[in-house]
Amino acid sequence: MEVVCLDMEGVLVPEIWINVAERTGIEALRATTRDIPDYDVLMRRRLKILDEHGLKIQDIQSVINGLGPMEGAREFIDWLEQRFLLTILSDTFYEFAEPLMRQLGWPTLFCHRLKVDENGKISDYLLRMRDHKRQAVLAYKGLNFKVFAAGDSYNDTTMLKEADAGFLFRAPGNVIKEFPQFPVTNDYDGLKNYFMQASERF
Ligand SMILES: [Mg+2]
Repeated sequence: MEVVCLDMEGVLVPEIWINVAERTGIEALRATTRDIPDYDVLMRRRLKILDEHGLKIQDIQSVINGLGPMEGAREFIDWLEQRFLLTILSDTFYEFAEPLMRQLGWPTLFCHRLKVDENGKISDYLLRMRDHKRQAVLAYKGLNFKVFAAGDSYNDTTMLKEADAGFLFRAPGNVIKEFPQFPVTNDYDGLKNYFMQASERF
């Protein structure tokens, strides 16, 4: 068996923070890992904005409850799980991801946690570990698995580099330009083909 590691936001579900920005009208929340490569800088900024606007965990969760997977994502997951060992590697938080995982059929998810106080204020975030996407790929390789990976953004590139084969999915132009070594596709059929070809190669 081979392992497939997939990013979540921008690959299987919409960008959570962009939807929060749209729902709340707070433009500054639109920035994602596509715009600010340093995740700590990005998260500190988000938490500061939430605090300034008095937004609590429940406000974000209610936005997420209204989101669904991208068209075809559930079928894509089902297809993958019949052929590969699938792990979703995301820089989101378990407190956010649950309604989306339910709609995707509960694939395995590695992500982070939020620190929430008794009033629902998000006071901090707790990275499970630094560069966890790459570390997960490394660990699977250490268990003698071949690993194929796909993602859309800066925070996926160390995972893609570490994998035996890495692909960009619906990535923005700046990421594609900076990382020309990764094949690009914009649809699930394209990604299926890439994974099947990688599987034949190894
Ligand atoms: Mg993403």
